[in-house]
Amino acid sequence: AEGVESHAYQSDIARLMRVVVSHLYHDRDVFVRELLSNANDALEKVRLMALTNPSILAPAENLNVTVLADAESGRIVIRDSGVGMTKEQLASNLGTIARSGTSEFLENLEKGDGGNLIGQFGLGFYSSFLVADRVAVASKTADEDEQWVFESEANAEGFKIVKDPRGATLGRGTEITLYLKPDAQGDYLDVAKLRSLIQKHAEYNAAPIYLWSSALLDPAAAASTAAAVAEGEDDEVKVEDIDEAAQTTKAEWELINDRPPLWMREPKDVTEAEYEDFYVKTFKDSEPPLAWSHFKGDAGSTTFRALIYIPSGLPNDFYSKDYVSLDSLKLFVRRVFITSDLGKDYLEKHLNWVKVFIDVDDLPLNVGRDSLQKTRALAQIKRNLQKRIYDLFARLAAEDEAKYAELYSKAGTALKVGAVEDAKNRDRIVKLLRFETSALNGTTTNLDDVVKRRKQGQTQIYFIAGAGQQKAMLQKSAFVERILARGYEVLYLTDPIDEMLVSTVPTYGGLRFQDVAKEGVTFGDEDDSEKDEAEELKTTFAPLAAYLKKELAEYVDKVTISTRLTTSPCLVTASNFGYSGNMERLLAAQNG
Ligand code: ADP
Ligand code: MG
Repeated sequence: AEGVESHAYQSDIARLMRVVVSHLYHDRDVFVRELLSNANDALEKVRLMALTNPSILAPAENLNVTVLADAESGRIVIRDSGVGMTKEQLASNLGTIARSGTSEFLENLEKGDGGNLIGQFGLGFYSSFLVADRVAVASKTADEDEQWVFESEANAEGFKIVKDPRGATLGRGTEITLYLKPDAQGDYLDVAKLRSLIQKHAEYNAAPIYLWSSALLDPAAAASTAAAVAEGEDDEVKVEDIDEAAQTTKAEWELINDRPPLWMREPKDVTEAEYEDFYVKTFKDSEPPLAWSHFKGDAGSTTFRALIYIPSGLPNDFYSKDYVSLDSLKLFVRRVFITSDLGKDYLEKHLNWVKVFIDVDDLPLNVGRDSLQKTRALAQIKRNLQKRIYDLFARLAAEDEAKYAELYSKAGTALKVGAVEDAKNRDRIVKLLRFETSALNGTTTNLDDVVKRRKQGQTQIYFIAGAGQQKAMLQKSAFVERILARGYEVLYLTDPIDEMLVSTVPTYGGLRFQDVAKEGVTFGDEDDSEKDEAEELKTTFAPLAAYLKKELAEYVDKVTISTRLTTSPCLVTASNFGYSGNMERLLAAQNG
């Protein structure tokens, strides 16, 4: 026909299309998901543009997707009022693939799960050929007056581009006509099946999706629809407006996804399975989350909705210096996806493994990402989120201590970094910390319980620091024996950051952290006779102390007579203000 331009596919595409079609035969349903997701993407692009330039949208314009199934002509027509494509974009978006990794794709395909792969590798559009032996894509952008059609057959080496013979029927948007293969017509022209497929994939589509099927018409009306469908020559581009027929017969368009997206709903209207499914799909984790919270927040000038998920674990490289999280936080503005890359510093690094989804009602968007970060609203949202995240940890700990302990074994150090660095939330975070203790076997303790177990008159929380050492080793330390002999509890601080922690958080519940290897250990149960005895011993052994001090002047600051030991005769301890032996070992290792 006149004005038809023929193009060859980019070299790999024809081959890929054949591979996709032959491998995914039993996964043919995916075409619904892929084409709806493309339509949704195109609508999101319009909305994103409208956020900064509202004049793009006509005042009462409906952004939606329609799916029309016409049994008589064996066609499905999917239309969206999205951004549309110019003639050049039709050729480049549908005739080439942007992403490299063809061989990676093929390798993965051999392993199965091709249905998810085609989306990931930017091959979604080609899923059309799973069910259609011919596909026509008519499209028009807002800027251009002309409407163009891309047309291709399954197994073809190329495609055609032609100016739409119907003229510009599409205001703005894209219309995909699938000429169904005979063996696909039974399945996909069946309204019930098509409806359920759309429902299944519509969950993440923000735009309404309408379905119309000729099967919903009475037989007389169906016949008139069939008559309205023009006959066409086989090798010519042909696109006809079947839905004109649908509209003149006044059949109702059925709204399929009448539910708002998950995060816009009230928590009572969302099931656990839906929350988990949303998490797995949104954050691409294969494990379900441990806990979540879903809430509306107020950030002064604007409100927002947020979903916080605690994953089952941390990324393997989380504690490495180079860790950057690319996907921990998704930012939407009025249901439009803005970025998952707010910069690694938006949430503090130690929280940069918790998954956060936010949809803000109002955010100035005419600014680059760097200034976006500094807006007041985002800073306020961040404070709110941090508090909520710690509250969520606390809830998990209260509801399921075993689950929490398992998570803590991986995330504990990150939380301690938080306690050291985040002064505003310190009280909240310290409550979340757990420590090895002499008081419990096989489990760790929180600090509230340590305070509860204190003995009368006790003013200190006793600990021994031994980075990287086992509780069993520390238990045997001579420093510890005296404390245990008196029936007091000792915490074993085995994490390298613990000493930093207790120096940043010197007291808890009115008790002062006391390193048992340092000066200053006091007991609440010393009675007067004990004190007298100590004084007496001090006087008796003063000459010995003086002698030792003189002999060891090079090595020690002072020599004191102490009642801290039960069986060992003497101890070398660090002064209260100096580094502990443990810190000195760490520093030596660092400097060495
Ligand atoms: P992906 O969606 O991963 O980019 P697809 O094969 O699904 O890969 O689509 C290829 C490209 O074609 C899209 O990136 C988009 O630019 C364009 N496209 C597809 N469908 C539409 C549509 N309905 N409206 C506008 N552009 C579309
Ligand atoms: Mg796609």
